[in-house]
Amino acid sequence: MNKPIFTIIAPVHNEELVLAELHRRIAEVMSQTGEAADSWELVLVNDGSSDRSGEIMAELNRQDPRVKGISLSRNFGFQVAVTCGLDHAQGDAVILIDADLQDPPEVILQMIEKWREGYDVAYGVRGERAGETWFKKTSASYFYRLIHSITSVKIPVDTGDFRLMDRKVVNAIRRLPEKHRFLRGMVSWVGFRQIGVVYKRHPRFAGETKFTLRKMVKFATDAITSFSYVPLQLATWAGFGIAGLGLLAILVVIIGRLSGAAEFRGQATTLVAVLFLGGIQLVCLGILGEYLGRIYDEVKGRPLYLIQQRWGYD
Ligand code: UDP
Ligand code: MG
Repeated sequence: MNKPIFTIIAPVHNEELVLAELHRRIAEVMSQTGEAADSWELVLVNDGSSDRSGEIMAELNRQDPRVKGISLSRNFGFQVAVTCGLDHAQGDAVILIDADLQDPPEVILQMIEKWREGYDVAYGVRGERAGETWFKKTSASYFYRLIHSITSVKIPVDTGDFRLMDRKVVNAIRRLPEKHRFLRGMVSWVGFRQIGVVYKRHPRFAGETKFTLRKMVKFATDAITSFSYVPLQLATWAGFGIAGLGLLAILVVIIGRLSGAAEFRGQATTLVAVLFLGGIQLVCLGILGEYLGRIYDEVKGRPLYLIQQRWGYD
């Protein structure tokens, strides 16, 4: 087999119901690129599925050698699964796509178009999202805007991981060894020529979302801590604010006492001040802890993922 021009990477976590359809749709779309039939490969990264996803991947590889499969030794999370795919991709242009067909593969053709025009990254912008809950859409929307406002890297809003990247971008990303990965931020960080492609996000083809609220919160904290110091600076600002307030209160008390205009009773005021400050201090400690824990993970220097089995690689 020749070296493929295009690599499509899809992370797979319990997606037995969608894999065959994913393969069919990708093959259909990739037959329209105007390149040879073996100009693409589909890299499926099995992120610790407990269903038949692994067996189906092996079966797809037997039927169609353009499909390659990698099974990780356990569930490492979506971002790490994609990273494993990037490490295995051979193409000159690499496309990331969710396995569940929420991102229509047809958009890949538009991305390839942009790539041929000379862009290094063509990222999908979710113009409309069908079949997702109100909560998911609102929280996602606020999340994108929060990230956008507190990070120095300009990460485009309403953009997921569905995107095409040129080989040089992929090589750049592979040089970023961080353990808590927020890929769309990392892609913005590396720069190069980037452009958005607006598309409509569809409902899942089958199965259910694998992103529990907990995973979403972890993802959001990873994103913020990887790309912003703002939470760390909150303590400084809160400190200035409260110290200012305290100074004001001292003046008020002194004047009140000297002029005899007001008498202050201690109990409640003290309690409020102590609890309020105690709360703020604990929150700040917690924020410090978030960063510290991540530094700890970096220092340990463990590998990002471990592979159990591969199909389509010698
Ligand atoms: N996924 C994964 N590991 C996980 C969770 C999800 O590889 O721990 C994959 C999943 O199989 C899918 C993609 O990540 O291909 C997006 O997940 P999902 O559709 O559940 O998320 P949503 O679209 O609801 O945000
Ligand atoms: Mg999905």
